[in-house]
Amino acid sequence: MSDIHNLSVAELSTALRNKSLGAVEIAQHFLNRIAQDKLGSFLSYSPEVTLKAAKASQERINQNQLAPLEGVPIAHKDVFVTKDFPSTAGSKMLVNYKSSFDATIVSKLALAGCVPLGKLNCDEFAMGSSNENSAFGPVLNPWDSKAVPGGSSGGSAAAVSAQLTPAATGTDTGGSIRQPASFCGITGIKPTYGRASRYGMIAYASSLDQAGPMAKDAMDCALLLGAMCGPDLDRDSTSLDLPLEDFTAHLNQSIKGLRIGLPNEFFGEGLDGQVRLALEQAQSVLTDLGAQFVPISLPKTELSIPVYYIIAPAEASSNLSRFDGVRYGHRAKEYSDLMEMYKKSRAEGFGAEVKKRIMTGAYVLSHGYYDAYYLQAQKIRRMIAEDFKLAFSKCDLIMGPVAPSTAWGLGEKTADPLSSYLADIFTLPASLAGLPAMSVPCGMSKAAKPLPIGMQLIGNYVQESKLLNVAHQYQLQTQWHKMSPLTSGNMSGDLE
Ligand code: GLN
Repeated sequence: MSDIHNLSVAELSTALRNKSLGAVEIAQHFLNRIAQDKLGSFLSYSPEVTLKAAKASQERINQNQLAPLEGVPIAHKDVFVTKDFPSTAGSKMLVNYKSSFDATIVSKLALAGCVPLGKLNCDEFAMGSSNENSAFGPVLNPWDSKAVPGGSSGGSAAAVSAQLTPAATGTDTGGSIRQPASFCGITGIKPTYGRASRYGMIAYASSLDQAGPMAKDAMDCALLLGAMCGPDLDRDSTSLDLPLEDFTAHLNQSIKGLRIGLPNEFFGEGLDGQVRLALEQAQSVLTDLGAQFVPISLPKTELSIPVYYIIAPAEASSNLSRFDGVRYGHRAKEYSDLMEMYKKSRAEGFGAEVKKRIMTGAYVLSHGYYDAYYLQAQKIRRMIAEDFKLAFSKCDLIMGPVAPSTAWGLGEKTADPLSSYLADIFTLPASLAGLPAMSVPCGMSKAAKPLPIGMQLIGNYVQESKLLNVAHQYQLQTQWHKMSPLTSGNMSGDLE
């Protein structure tokens, strides 16, 4: 058998079922790898907690009482609250914060038999595209230690890519599952808004936040998504009241005759030549499988940037008001009155990007500016959703790049934060419309240290199955998702 860390969730599951591997052995193997991590991808882990869960899982296996993902390890982005590990959301504000309950998706995955490995680094409160906004330091891209892993779920993507965990949870508000998945060469899906419960997910922008899985391939994402989704109306009123779905049941359908839309706005001037080429090659693979490509237009694509960077900060300014030094997290040591305590606690606890967004949000919501910014943004958000509605009358699915380029260098965009906002252009539209979208590895750049390229697939509401099937059919024909920084030689020397 190949190394345990090479195995996918599906393969681990089979090995656990036929008892060729044990849950404790698998958990210990990943714990050993995590202990040697040089990427900064984990913020906390606990052999004690993990091995206890693995032993309990093995008992169930021994008694043939297997849950669907029995014994499969998973690590969680640190924006999901957990009883057994600290939950910081990448912020100094929540250093050492321990929740009294588990987020719904954390408990759902545990019920499905998953063994928790720990918590993963991310941009502070999920605000960022490079993981450089974490209060606990950046995460390095396993393919090139001088490159960012993407963000905000950078720790999740890097840890899966470096095989420190077979799978991870992530959150995507404006691209935070898709873009890091693309930068690290793994597969990730953001389901339709409302598919996965937001209960226990530390809120950034509530009308956009969605949880989803990040793993080696579409099959694994389908397995994990099935375990994560489901209504949770008592605790998240925006959760969709849909029956549980087995997303793996639709993975073997022919894509013959499937109409895939190519939005011309996604293939304009700003797109890196190597990304364009990789997408053209992916297109020809899908054409060989019988898909038909149709030109479509998403005319408001460019406006998704100002719209998102008004709505998300507006919601963030409201959501983050709970961090006041009284109820949660950091409290300043010295203060003379209540107001000063609030001010100092927040000034000390939040990082620069978070403060910037709180201020932007408060500004666009303030009397006199609300109509000019926030209300306009809401109107255009509606129009963006209408663009997709029209597009889906011409095609079944949309394909495009995840990001305009491959991973950029650490520190490269620090002096020009706007350029990192602009790089979100292809992920924001689906987020604003609440549509399911995923990232699928489709190439590598040509460079001394080649970097992964991702293709984005966007589906109509609740059509995750269609996305996952196309991705799976594509992965049956290609090897990009099998490429690993461990075997490419990139992880030798500085990272291993
Ligand atoms: N890069 C976007 C932002 O900084 C998206 C982040 C996310 O999806 N959480 O807000």
